[in-house]
Amino acid sequence: MALSEFELIDRYFLHQETNRSDVVLGVGDDAALVRVPMDHDLVLTMDSLVAGIHFLSTWPAEDIAHKALAVNLSDLAAMGAEPAWATLSLVLPQIDENWIEGFCQAFYHLAKQFNVQLIGGDLSRGPTLTITLELHGFIPTGQAITRSGAQIGDLIYVTGALGESGFALHIEKHLSLFSDTVYRSVAHRLRRPMPRLAEGRVLRGLANSMIDISDGLAADLGHILEKSGVGATVIEEKIPIASPLKQHLSYDQAWNLALFHGEDYELCFTLPLKYQERVETLFTELQTDLHLIGHIDSQQGLRCQMRNQQVMNLEPKGYQHF
Ligand code: ADP
Ligand code: MG
Repeated sequence: MALSEFELIDRYFLHQETNRSDVVLGVGDDAALVRVPMDHDLVLTMDSLVAGIHFLSTWPAEDIAHKALAVNLSDLAAMGAEPAWATLSLVLPQIDENWIEGFCQAFYHLAKQFNVQLIGGDLSRGPTLTITLELHGFIPTGQAITRSGAQIGDLIYVTGALGESGFALHIEKHLSLFSDTVYRSVAHRLRRPMPRLAEGRVLRGLANSMIDISDGLAADLGHILEKSGVGATVIEEKIPIASPLKQHLSYDQAWNLALFHGEDYELCFTLPLKYQERVETLFTELQTDLHLIGHIDSQQGLRCQMRNQQVMNLEPKGYQHF
């Protein structure tokens, strides 16, 4: 016989490997109780993943769970925050225990890597598989890195490489055009993104502004510019287009995916010139690729200095859900 809601909660959500000492009361009561450390701000973020919109229902539960947690972790990374606790709402068209088991296994696996404890949530039947996760973390008071702090003269950096997630989605839509090997070389970036928490944390007190790349570099850097009331110029050759894109796509396709697709979950931040050496050394120690792509200037808008030395305006367009 199918398990009841309470039996499911007992079996899958009550016991976890991660047990944080700041969780006074976790899953099982009307609400959870946690202790925020002294002199810290609580940092909250939430994301929903909806079947057919954010993932295909053919994806394994493990990938969906990983992504739900990873995208929220990435938002905390982009604030420079430390993740701690999560609450999870699962809306399921039907109860499939295998699915829940796979989901929990992958969720707890990633949660453990970042010392996140699931402290509550909700289960409901509903027409479309929907996962909503709220992630809670903290940061020393006043040290959060926001979108609004960019200053004229700041250097603009991006971590890692861009476009592989968009390329993977492109292949999922046009399967026959690419080999399985090509797909497998990029699929993990779409389904199993790794949030840049250590990178975000080391930028506290150094970066003036930061965002994670979820909608595309142009759109997300655009958010920094708008919130900070500044403009920017980036340099075409410095944009880190991921190598599988350069290998298998036309330059235009690669450029479009790298700038306008998103879901890369890399960090984009702006830095006062005086911290350049320090931050580049810190990233070498972290063994994370870091690319200096341009600088903040006073002229509003986002421009790109092209290879032919022409300056082109970049539309801050990106992925939009509506
Ligand atoms: P209530 O009806 O009081 O809201 P529920 O019966 O929904 O409580 O949940 C009972 C307990 O199980 C609560 O502590 C809740 O946070 C937890 N819980 C329910 N669903 C989930 C879930 N998907 N993940 C984690 N905890 C859950
Ligand atoms: Mg209750």
